[in-house]
Amino acid sequence: MKNVYFFGEGHADGNAQMKDILGGKGANLAEMTNLGIPVPPGFTISAKLCLRYVEEQKLPEEVLDEIRETMKSLEKAVSRKFGDEKDPLLVSVRSGAKISMPGMMDTVLNLGLNNKSVEGLAKQSGNPRFAYDSYRRFIHMYGSVVKGISDAAFEHPLDALKKEKGVERDIDLEADDLKSLVASFKQTYEKETGSPFSDDPWEQLLGAVEAVFGSWNIKRAVDYRRVHKIPNDMGTAVNVQAMVFGNMGEDSGTGVVFTRDPATGENVLYGEFLLNAQGEDVVAGIRDPLPVADMKDPLPDSFKQLTDTCNLLEHHFKEMQDIEFTVERGTFYILQTRTGKRTARASLRTSVEMADEGLIDKRAAVRRVEPDQLDQLLHPMVDPKADLKILTTGLPASPGAAVGQVVFDADTAEERGMAGDTVILVRKETSPDDFHGMVAAQAILTSRGGMTSHAAVVARGMGKCCVAGAKELDVDEPNTRFSMGDTVVNENDWITLDGSTGRVILGRVPLVEPKPTEDFTKIMTWADEIRMLRVRTNADTPGDAARARDFGAEGIGLCRTEHMFFEGERIDAMREMILASDEAGRRKALAKLLPMQREDFTGIFKAMDGLPVTIRLLDPPLHEFLPHDPAELEKLAGDVGVAIEDLKRTMDSLTEANPMLGHRGCRLGISHPEITEMQSRAIFEAACDATADGVEVLPEVMVPLVGHVEELKRQGQLVRDTATTVFAEKGTEVDYLVGTMIELPRACVTADEIAEVAEFFSFGTNDLTQTVFGLSRDDAGRFLPHYVESGILKSDPFQSLDQEGVGKLVDTAVRLGRETKPDLKLGICGEHGGDPASIHFFHNVGLAYVSCSPFRVPIARLAAAHATIDDQK
Ligand code: PEP
Ligand code: MG
Repeated sequence: MKNVYFFGEGHADGNAQMKDILGGKGANLAEMTNLGIPVPPGFTISAKLCLRYVEEQKLPEEVLDEIRETMKSLEKAVSRKFGDEKDPLLVSVRSGAKISMPGMMDTVLNLGLNNKSVEGLAKQSGNPRFAYDSYRRFIHMYGSVVKGISDAAFEHPLDALKKEKGVERDIDLEADDLKSLVASFKQTYEKETGSPFSDDPWEQLLGAVEAVFGSWNIKRAVDYRRVHKIPNDMGTAVNVQAMVFGNMGEDSGTGVVFTRDPATGENVLYGEFLLNAQGEDVVAGIRDPLPVADMKDPLPDSFKQLTDTCNLLEHHFKEMQDIEFTVERGTFYILQTRTGKRTARASLRTSVEMADEGLIDKRAAVRRVEPDQLDQLLHPMVDPKADLKILTTGLPASPGAAVGQVVFDADTAEERGMAGDTVILVRKETSPDDFHGMVAAQAILTSRGGMTSHAAVVARGMGKCCVAGAKELDVDEPNTRFSMGDTVVNENDWITLDGSTGRVILGRVPLVEPKPTEDFTKIMTWADEIRMLRVRTNADTPGDAARARDFGAEGIGLCRTEHMFFEGERIDAMREMILASDEAGRRKALAKLLPMQREDFTGIFKAMDGLPVTIRLLDPPLHEFLPHDPAELEKLAGDVGVAIEDLKRTMDSLTEANPMLGHRGCRLGISHPEITEMQSRAIFEAACDATADGVEVLPEVMVPLVGHVEELKRQGQLVRDTATTVFAEKGTEVDYLVGTMIELPRACVTADEIAEVAEFFSFGTNDLTQTVFGLSRDDAGRFLPHYVESGILKSDPFQSLDQEGVGKLVDTAVRLGRETKPDLKLGICGEHGGDPASIHFFHNVGLAYVSCSPFRVPIARLAAAHATIDDQK
């Protein structure tokens, strides 16, 4: 098996399809080499070795041989020798997994230098300053990346030297200064690691390669994978590439460019570059870079090559590219290209425009927009009418708006965020070590760095609001405060960030919901043309129903009637019903509830004119409607005219050890048929009234928590009898269905029997998850996060369907149900109806619709289209 893949001299061992082995970076370097693009030659060590290394902590002998062999090809390609004292071949070493992971910034540049070859480099280049600058960067990067020494340990001597020399920028230090810095960095290195900095290039190289493999399992990488659901067994490849230098003078430079604007999606070259700078300077945000267009004057030829290459790469990959380049003494090189990370807005715009340009088709355009990204667009913005105390304006690094209390370090952000507080993480700049805090924060604010700084890239990836490079802010992390002129903002003070404009605003500003853009509407229309699954909503009020319809809901999949009983005078009538000592008493109370329920249903039918509405009969255990506060208890006793002791006795009799497995769902209607009767009456009276008003109603009455067919048979009969009575009274008839929730394991395995009497099934995957796992929905929060963090479960099964377990039962029920009734209507209304991965599953098992909360309707529509596209591939 091959482990090391060469690229260079117009030919590569790999190509873009080999991402599993070469990682994204390595595969694209190979592809670009094959396309004849100027890429410095090098080789990629297979990602397949990564996990083996992690386990064995050493590289196999045959791999070492292969590396040595491939190094010869590289030496030939650049006509230099690795380790040569006069004219050394220097390399960079970078990680690169199949999926790009900004959490892993383990890059080492200038590897191969030592005390002798640095002199050779100085002579060869005729530039001793450059040679020593390269060497001190190498020791710093190697020390921090490979050996884990803190950056500060190297930054302190550098800052001290700049102060001593009275200069502000690194590039103002001279060769001798840098030479002394090399000596001091070596001391630091030896002090921190206990051994001297190696002069042996091979030892340096293998140390770096092993560090890249080993970094697969460092905390920040593991955290990143968890948040972005990247598999842990993928591994990273290692890219070793001949160095080219952007720090060789004013005819050199380095930069990062996107083929389209990653914030807005506009079709313009968008990027930043620095003259006389190396690699990480741009990304790390240490010096303020220039807009890429400004490269035209100092480096006109290279600028033309850059624009031509950008066009070529975008057409070749048919995707927006994020490209790193370097100019070495007027010669242009591409160091990397990959699909550009972008905001949701940009994702919509680039997809729509590329389809309009004919670069891709509509299906590809739809497939490119990630459903969860839409969340950003559906998220709030700063209220345009609000009075704002704008502190300053930074870069609009990642859109959306957020309000939160200021914190200054990642650990505090994580702690407070976990406790449910809304915090905004404020830093001078962020590094991968801050990742866990960025996850927990509402938003991120930095005073340094550009649009491609770590904070900006990571926030955009997470769809989180970020303002970067707010230069005027003086961020004082040790003293937990920042200031802007005379205004000081301390830890825990409230601020508002607007990531779409870059505004940093004092205090808590009201936020408003956004309006969908034209691109959004277009993608959603295309998605609707493609998808097979219908998308309904879970809504209990006419207002929610109307909002969901605006988002594209095609009916109501779940109206939880109990929510209607909690407000105002309704709860009083409900309590009166629960506490009544006999059926007559219950009927009296129910008569008060009837008109209110009818009114709700009429409103919902009107809002959903022409679309199906599934109304579920009462579900929760009755004690949920009773008060617990002593004063309220006293009042209730007075209202219903019973002694407080009697009231307490009745309440005790309602107490259950396991209420979620107790007297709830259809069991309530079976003990108290008058409840089902009243609710059915309200539904059918409302349906008749709405029909009389010219509304097209399609009611579907749903019986909850059925475990045995006999339960549904009896409740269903009661519903139908009530319908017959109401229709006779009203002198009119309305079409309706009677069906059931499938939310208990027994219902799944006897679905063939239940389908005899059900006209539809709607999977209640919340209760089904609870009962299949035997895991209380209400208590799981105490230990379930640990299950996910420690890898027992891949994700929280209440958020994303457990396909192997719960899914198997859903699949069984679908099959059994259809055996009895081939045209049985099937849907799902648990929380999973709005989760993209679960939606793929529901498509695959052949459900007709998913139902989710109003805000998730567009996400579900897009995910359903993705499921169809993937299915037809
Ligand atoms: C379910 O159990 O999945 C469901 C939709 O009902 P509820 O969440 O109201 O129990
Ligand atoms: Mg349920």
